Amino acid sequence: MIGVLALQGDVREHLRVLEHLGEPARPVLEPADLAGVNGLVLPGGESTTLSLLLSSSGLLGPVGDLLDAGTAVFGTCAGMILLAGEVSDGRPDQAHFGGIDLEVRRNGFGSQAASFECDLEVDALGSPPLHAVFIRAPLVERAGAGVDVLARLPLGPSGSVAGTGSPVLCRQGSVLVSSFHPELTTDTRVHRYFVEMAKGA
Ligand code: GLN
Repeated sequence: MIGVLALQGDVREHLRVLEHLGEPARPVLEPADLAGVNGLVLPGGESTTLSLLLSSSGLLGPVGDLLDAGTAVFGTCAGMILLAGEVSDGRPDQAHFGGIDLEVRRNGFGSQAASFECDLEVDALGSPPLHAVFIRAPLVERAGAGVDVLARLPLGPSGSVAGTGSPVLCRQGSVLVSSFHPELTTDTRVHRYFVEMAKGA
């Protein structure tokens, strides 16, 4: 059973992809919803809002415990920010779990180029390239030695060099993060990869 954190953000889109893969999934609104969950998705949305709602819902501690226990967790965009070790340009009191050794800059592609799309080469997923949608995405400024970078940005927004080569899909052990939104396209390979991770964890 995969849980999708359902406090804010594009929850339905993740549930729809998991349903399409035939994978049992449920929205997670409170700690009791984590019972029996062997994988958790932290969706895109606003990491500052998600941080506040994680506290008020009582889920902050239980999600941290899940990460400590090695349960598979997948964060997309705002979810990536929540999982990173270091966050810049966030709110000073914004919570992040540090489940993956990344330094990310919130909205790091700037306001004009806040949203863009491109094709990514992802060896772990094979061909064809993966079409990726970035919406006010975090920019990975450093990936630790223990992080497996599964995809990098070929070129920055609108072909610019800003962000070129920066990691956009990363894994460290049981934690998977993407700065883009695989739940917004019809390509289900990233979710399938995560479901396999959850089964193996
Ligand atoms: N910029 C958002 C944040 O800081 C993330 C955007 C997204 O999830 N699409 O949380």
